[in-house]
Amino acid sequence: MKFKKRKFMRYFGFSLIITFFSSLNPLKASSKKIINPNLSKEQKNIMFNESTEKPFSSKLLNEKRNGYYHCANCGAKLFASDSKFDSGTGWPSFSKSLPGAFKTKIDYSFGMKRIEYHCAQCGAHHGHVFDDGPTKTQKRFCNNGLCLIFKPE
Ligand SMILES: [Zn+2]
Repeated sequence: MKFKKRKFMRYFGFSLIITFFSSLNPLKASSKKIINPNLSKEQKNIMFNESTEKPFSSKLLNEKRNGYYHCANCGAKLFASDSKFDSGTGWPSFSKSLPGAFKTKIDYSFGMKRIEYHCAQCGAHHGHVFDDGPTKTQKRFCNNGLCLIFKPE
């Protein structure tokens, strides 16, 4: 009887350890991963080497239709069209992202302290978020157009 109890406790302990490690899996899932095999060299440079596209180069700057903006790598839904605005910066800009779309990280490159954000699903770099947005969210998500795929509704 005593032995059985001990055995049970041992399995119980193992299952706790397994539960603990599987709860860490979302972190693994967010590590950078190329999912779309058709990404161009420039897209890969932006999404996985933190490069930035040339300002005013994105076709999405003039996109005004209703719909959603998805991650060009994994397809996750990131922004709704009603949060898009013309910031004049030359990059597609949004006042808010969809809940849970991104994870942020502080970026100290170029002698500046900026908040960069990554797709929560695939870890691809998308852009930087600033606190000078024109709407009540006060956020300005400055996104590389090449990282986005627009799907009209
Ligand atoms: Zn993604």
